[in-house]
Order: sequence, then structure tokens, then C-alpha cells
Amino acid sequence: MVSLYDLSLAELTGFCAELGERPFRARQLYAWLYGKGENDFARMTDVPAAAREKLAARAHAKGLALRDALASKDGQTVKYLYGTDDGNFIETVFMKYKDRNSVCVSTQAGCRMGCKFCASGKLGLVRDLAPSEMALQVILSEREAGARTKNIVLMGIGEPLDNFDNVKKFIENFTDDHGRDLSRRAITLSSCGLVPGIERLAAELPQVNLAVSLHAPNDELRQEIMPVTKRYGVKAVVEAARKHYEATRRRPTFEYALIAGFNDGPEHARELAALLRGLNCLVNLIPLNGEGGGENGGENGGENARRGSGIGTTERFREALGQRHIPATVRRSLGADIDAACGQLRLRQERVPRGDQYA
Ligand code: SF4
Repeated sequence: MVSLYDLSLAELTGFCAELGERPFRARQLYAWLYGKGENDFARMTDVPAAAREKLAARAHAKGLALRDALASKDGQTVKYLYGTDDGNFIETVFMKYKDRNSVCVSTQAGCRMGCKFCASGKLGLVRDLAPSEMALQVILSEREAGARTKNIVLMGIGEPLDNFDNVKKFIENFTDDHGRDLSRRAITLSSCGLVPGIERLAAELPQVNLAVSLHAPNDELRQEIMPVTKRYGVKAVVEAARKHYEATRRRPTFEYALIAGFNDGPEHARELAALLRGLNCLVNLIPLNGEGGGENGGENGGENARRGSGIGTTERFREALGQRHIPATVRRSLGADIDAACGQLRLRQERVPRGDQYA
């Protein structure tokens, strides 16, 4: 059985031809799957019953089941836990902003990057997610939230550039103008800094925004919390981001979680500003919630739990960057009470398998 969400429009057209259906049928299905977010053939009412029967015998559009949901007190942010067909668990976060909604999508079951602050990195990589499993996170979360989104961030469980082919297909399918017709400029991919992957992103998906989880201004510090630094040092990562900007003219963002007494001093701000000098970029300072913390992989969940910096320190850090002409913002903290970063709900499941770990 094939998942229709794993097929490009061209592949779906070929599949329909095998079923004796004309190309129009594929476009009609794409509009249902992505445009209307409908994944039940029975509800695709303008597709003839005979065609739906043929489809159901060879294909499906399912593959995720909602297992749990956790809403913030203000109801603006909801974290969903989904189970895959093979017993894995992944998380998706739907965030309602005044001006727009956003969905944070997981790209792998687990992650091999081993960031010390991250719940997802703790258990290693189990497997890559298929394009269909990424698409369904958006479709099902929109349905649950009763709202649509025009923004997607690939910042959930997993390192998207470690699953590039499937991530690329998900983005291409979702942004196809016969489907959702979502702008690629409304998609942001967050990476821990896999240099070859950043190069591929620039070449193959140039409109997609790049965010880099940096979190430290030098290799020594960064290695303590992000083992991937041994392979790609901060200078190489920033250089890759620079080339990405030169190729795409999309301004990269550097995520920087401020950890008290670790990376939040004036000397760190100076070093960070020097590292980023001359690059058109934005630094996104992340205030941590209480103890522990990190970025996309899961605040509070990792070993070596650390304490977040206070508001005053955060503001001084931002000012120090600004004085050196490095624009910086402090990330809006939505859903702090449910710990909106990914990995926590998954970690609570007893059956989460251990996987391959890079470091
Ligand atoms: S922070 Fe991101 S890259 Fe690092 S281990 Fe967690 S999911 Fe992987």
C-alpha cells in the first residue's frame, strides 16, 4: 500500500494512470489531500465511488494516529503526540499567533546529533520520517486545532538536513500549486549546522529560510553542548550560512539559547558579534524556561540541565550585539507552561526505542 502523501503530483499522475484514471484525477486528489487537508477517500465526494474503491485497494492517505495533546493555559499553543504505523512517537506543535499560525514539524523519530540539552537527542535516531508523515503532522494538527497555517517550521524532533531527500519531497509536495500552494518563503528549516546539508538547501530549495542552532560563539563552548561541533566548527557553519545567503538572498537566523554563566557574558556577545560580522543575519535569543533548556530538541529534557539567563542578562546581551550592528530579537515564548519545544511527550512513552547516536 502506498501513501498518496508520499507521491509527487507527477508520481500520483502515473499511479492514477495505472488505475485507468486520467491526469485530471491526480490534480483533483492533490487538491483534496493538501488544499482541503482531507485524508479519507470516502469524504472526497466529487471523486466517483468506483475511483475511490480502486484507490482504497492500492493506496491510503493515513499513517499517523493522535495519541496525546497538551495545550498551554492560554490555549494558543498545542503540542500533539502522534504514533506512527510502526510504533514510533513524534511530536508536532501548533502555535496560534495574532497575525499568523505556525506548525512545528518533526522530521525524524529521534535524532542522532546528541545535543546535550535535548530530550530527542538522548535516545538517538530510530528512523527518518517519510514525506507523508511530515505532511500528516500539518494536516492532522490543523484539523485538531480547527485552524489553518501558512507557516511551517522544521524545528521539531530530528535534524532535517540528516533526512534531506524526504524533507525536500515534503516541501515540494506541500508547496505544489495544485495542492496547498504554500509559499516556500513561509517555510523555515532549523539545523544544528550540517555544512553539506546547508549547501544542498541553498542549491535545491533556495526559497526556504535557514535557521542555525548556534548557541555558542566558539568551538570549545559549543562542543560541550553540541557534539556535532567536532565535525563542523562554528566558523565553517557560519561560512556555510554566509554562502547560503549569497546564493539565496534569504537572511539566515542564528538561534542562541542563553544559559546562565555558560554563554551569556559580555565576552560571549563580543565573540559572537565578531563571528557574525559582515553577514546579513538575525540572532534569535532564546530565553529558557527555568532549569535546563535548549532549542528545537526539547527544553528541560537533556542531561547536563542548565539554568536559563535572566531577563536583564538577555537584554544586555541583545544590546551588546546591537551595538556591534548585529540585529537580535528575543524569541516570543509561547506555550512555556507546556514546554513547547519537542521531545518531552515522546520521552514519556515507555516504548520509545533507542536508536543510532552520532555522538
Ligand atoms: S537539538 Fe535538534 S539536532 Fe540537537 S539532538 Fe535535538 S533534535 Fe537533534
